[in-house]
Amino acid sequence: RSFSEAASIPVATVLRAMMGMGIMANINAELAFETAELIATELDLQLMLKETETLEDELISDIEEQEDDPDSLVTRPPIVTFLGHVDHGKTSLLDYLIGINVVSGEAGGITQHIRAYEIDKDGRSVTFVDTPGHEAFTEMRARGANVTDIAVLVIAADDGIMPQTEEAISHAKAAGVPIVVALNKIDLEGVDANRVLSQLTEHQLTPSEWGGEVEVVRTSAISGEGMDELLETLLTIAELNEYKANPDRKALGVCLEAEQQGDRGVLAKLVVQNGTLSVGDVVVCGPTYGRVRAMTNTLTGKPVEHAGPSTPINLMGLESPPGAGDRFHVLSDITQAREIAANRADAESRSSLSGVTTKVSFENFQEMLQGGRLGRQDEKVKLNLIIRADVKGSLEAIDKELSKFDHPEVEIRVLQRSVGGITLADATLASASDAVIVGFNVIPDEQARSLADERNVQIRRYEVIYKLTDDIKAMIEGRLKPEE
Ligand code: GDP
Repeated sequence: RSFSEAASIPVATVLRAMMGMGIMANINAELAFETAELIATELDLQLMLKETETLEDELISDIEEQEDDPDSLVTRPPIVTFLGHVDHGKTSLLDYLIGINVVSGEAGGITQHIRAYEIDKDGRSVTFVDTPGHEAFTEMRARGANVTDIAVLVIAADDGIMPQTEEAISHAKAAGVPIVVALNKIDLEGVDANRVLSQLTEHQLTPSEWGGEVEVVRTSAISGEGMDELLETLLTIAELNEYKANPDRKALGVCLEAEQQGDRGVLAKLVVQNGTLSVGDVVVCGPTYGRVRAMTNTLTGKPVEHAGPSTPINLMGLESPPGAGDRFHVLSDITQAREIAANRADAESRSSLSGVTTKVSFENFQEMLQGGRLGRQDEKVKLNLIIRADVKGSLEAIDKELSKFDHPEVEIRVLQRSVGGITLADATLASASDAVIVGFNVIPDEQARSLADERNVQIRRYEVIYKLTDDIKAMIEGRLKPEE
């Protein structure tokens, strides 16, 4: 632990480096001086490797940043994700939508964890991505893969807003995407829609029928009620937001999931975000690469030659399965693709530092402020917080204290506040949104702790509220002492 602190490298990274050297240890282990020296050398080496990797990837960032001529842009289907509490009907809603649409054949052919389908409605399409939960949704964002344009928040009318619904709301808000509410299971007898509408209002999601901004569609995945209206609402939002892409450039996008299918090779499910992907293209995706051998429609399983913007596709031809959230790019040269992939794979296996980025913390906030790392010059710098507390009363008291802050340059933004321990979802959200996690009389669970460690996410714990406000004041004024 003291080695990690002295070197400012997360404990998990140090332990992994040690494991790579055949040293099994825990954070309390004592290190001989020689061993510490060896680990330092090892980590140093990895840092250098990381730099080489960055150079290789310059080519990729050039591709990413290549601006599209406005004349080349065409409308693309919106990419929509379902979020919500477990059992509120995410899977059933998507099943129903596919049911409307399945013309023939078996869907997919891949073990279904993340589903992605393009659904046609009178000649206009919507692409649905169904992730297993909001952790997966935010994890993609943490990896730079913002696949979602619109979030559909599924709420069962009989249950109303539940803890995971609250988390989903925070995650969707942090992603900055429009939210549509599917008030599901409306077919159940005796459900009180108004109760849910008022809960929504309490969560700053005022329904449009009550004069707010949020469209609430009453749906039933059983009777099909509201399904047309849901699709229409999504298409209307898409029209308003004018999602566009350039089908004439080389494709880029995101891998949703992938698996090795025995002798048949690697099957990867991708979403094209821009450009057109074609059979025969050379693709580099995370630490792997390949030439596109075949593509199939995720819904019908039928072969396709070309996949344009917002199209989900099953792809064969990659050398090994990439990870969920890995970005893909089309290159002109297979040798180059092989090199980039090999470099990445090398960096990944040699080091665990690839995940390390400098995250915002109370201690480095001033530095980041001055270095212009947080926000633009003409707007207030945002300090993002995720707050977890033991009881509701503490949350209210914290809110009250935080609302008293009025600083010309700094805005405190609470991405998520709720009762309970610090979870993996909190750590993922903090990592994707550059937030600091604050816990009041609560602790992180093991998964949350290790992810936070790995990603350099700061978790600060307090027992009294004025300590937090003191720290924030001190932090903003740049006189905060490092945490003990
Ligand atoms: P998920 O966990 O959010 O994906 O929820 P599921 O789609 O698995 O649905 C959970 C349960 O609720 C299942 O038993 C569904 O049959 C049921 N369910 C889903 N949607 C509706 C609906 O609109 N009406 C009724 N009555 N039941 C529904």
